[in-house]
Amino acid sequence: MHIVHVATEFATVAKVGGLGDVTYGLSLELTRLGHQVTVILPKFDIIDLQEVSDFHQENFTYSSFFENHWYSNNVWTGNMKGVQLLFIESHHPHRFFDRGTIYSSDDDVNRFLYFSRSIVDLMIKREIHPDVIHIHDWHSAAIAPLYRELRPQGKAKIVLTIHNLEYQGRCSPIELTKVGLDLNRYFTQEQLQDPLYPEAANFLKGGIVNADRVTTVSPNYMTEIIMPEGGKGLESVILQYRDKFSGILNGIDPEYWNPETDSYLPYHFSKKKLKNKALVKLALQKKFQMFEENRPMVGVVSRLVPQKGIELIKEALEYTLKNLGQFVLLGSSPIPAIQEEFEELKIKHSGNGHVFFQLEHDEEIAHLIYAGSDVLLMPSLFEPCGLSQLIALRYGTLPIVRITGGLKDTIFDQINGFTFEEPTAESLRKAMDRMFVCWISDPFKWKQMIQQGMKASLDWKESAKRYLEIYETNAALKFQIDTNTVAC
Ligand code: ADP
Repeated sequence: MHIVHVATEFATVAKVGGLGDVTYGLSLELTRLGHQVTVILPKFDIIDLQEVSDFHQENFTYSSFFENHWYSNNVWTGNMKGVQLLFIESHHPHRFFDRGTIYSSDDDVNRFLYFSRSIVDLMIKREIHPDVIHIHDWHSAAIAPLYRELRPQGKAKIVLTIHNLEYQGRCSPIELTKVGLDLNRYFTQEQLQDPLYPEAANFLKGGIVNADRVTTVSPNYMTEIIMPEGGKGLESVILQYRDKFSGILNGIDPEYWNPETDSYLPYHFSKKKLKNKALVKLALQKKFQMFEENRPMVGVVSRLVPQKGIELIKEALEYTLKNLGQFVLLGSSPIPAIQEEFEELKIKHSGNGHVFFQLEHDEEIAHLIYAGSDVLLMPSLFEPCGLSQLIALRYGTLPIVRITGGLKDTIFDQINGFTFEEPTAESLRKAMDRMFVCWISDPFKWKQMIQQGMKASLDWKESAKRYLEIYETNAALKFQIDTNTVAC
């Protein structure tokens, strides 16, 4: 089967959050299963090509349509572990992919609409006929209506994965015309008109309406998004198209996230030989100039956005220090006010050897925190799946999470982590109390919980099979809430 993923992220080439891990891990697993996998990305100026082999410009230039003009694009190619990567280099004068960032430009709608249209034009001009076009989030969702419109005889099955319903690509309807979608046909209630703001168009809705199948990244998130709170305005559309939805739990790539071989770590460990985890903790304390004491180390690796429970993270910092723990945080925010707030917190705690903040994106430090911490904090207000807690489990670090979305499918109180339900300081503190008590008085249970987490199969095997079922099944399925959770 030839499967084409179209996305804005692919670890380690271009990654902001979990989307990059998913396109990477799923593509590798599908390749291992013998399928031909192509991933198409914008050729951002910040792509990291260290792990890409045979990277070169192809002898193929084509034009794509935008705002009544045709603009030429180059295609670059490379290979990562058997996955073919294609990069679209645009010659549009606005240099859409040369912004030093993947997201958060003022013209993101234009940038990703251009990208989406350029993919459909590429498929037409280069005669690419995949079995499946798998699109991800609103950034490539416009491919679904565009493919129907421009390639009506096309046989590819279109699968849309929703990684986060918060981001929908709402915009003025005039944007539709830029990529050649006729307002009379596409700015309608049945098509891309936003259900909440009828004067706006909504590209994620366009993806849902026009895709053959839609998936969410965990079973529980699927149940949440048919409700008004979780649906973020699209709940009625999701209900209407519920027959094409499935919830499939994300995995993590077992080679990339492996404490036994991780090249970012100074020491390696496994569930049978846990001793070296303490050495990694020591290395982390040394690197961050923290006191080298055996206190419970609470780690955070997160985008710093409201979804992640910013107030609860701050509360947890204070509560950890009050309870004689240590706190390390790696995170960055696209929201200047939040970034500033954390810069101030960092200054406030500078000189305190029990606290360390790194406020940027840093892959190496992320690995060190997952491996060297005792606890990973994720007090999310909502969480479509969450990968950080899965990575933590793999590295023998107990997640402390608010049970929502995929966190509810994967973390179980005092079995493989600690959980709380209400998004309040009080509820968080109670879960942290259970954690501190266990740390101090029951090291045997603590170790049992670590082993429980480390032995769970968190890889892509099961989930890739579910995606393949979706790729291969033609008939619409009944509303399907898969029941895959982390086996405990
Ligand atoms: P989301 O996709 O909402 O950001 P997930 O938990 O699904 O959250 O995935 C987060 C991914 O991004 C993990 O791989 C995590 O390690 C990574 N990550 C988040 N912030 C940083 C950072 N500042 N530096 C390095 N990696 C980060």
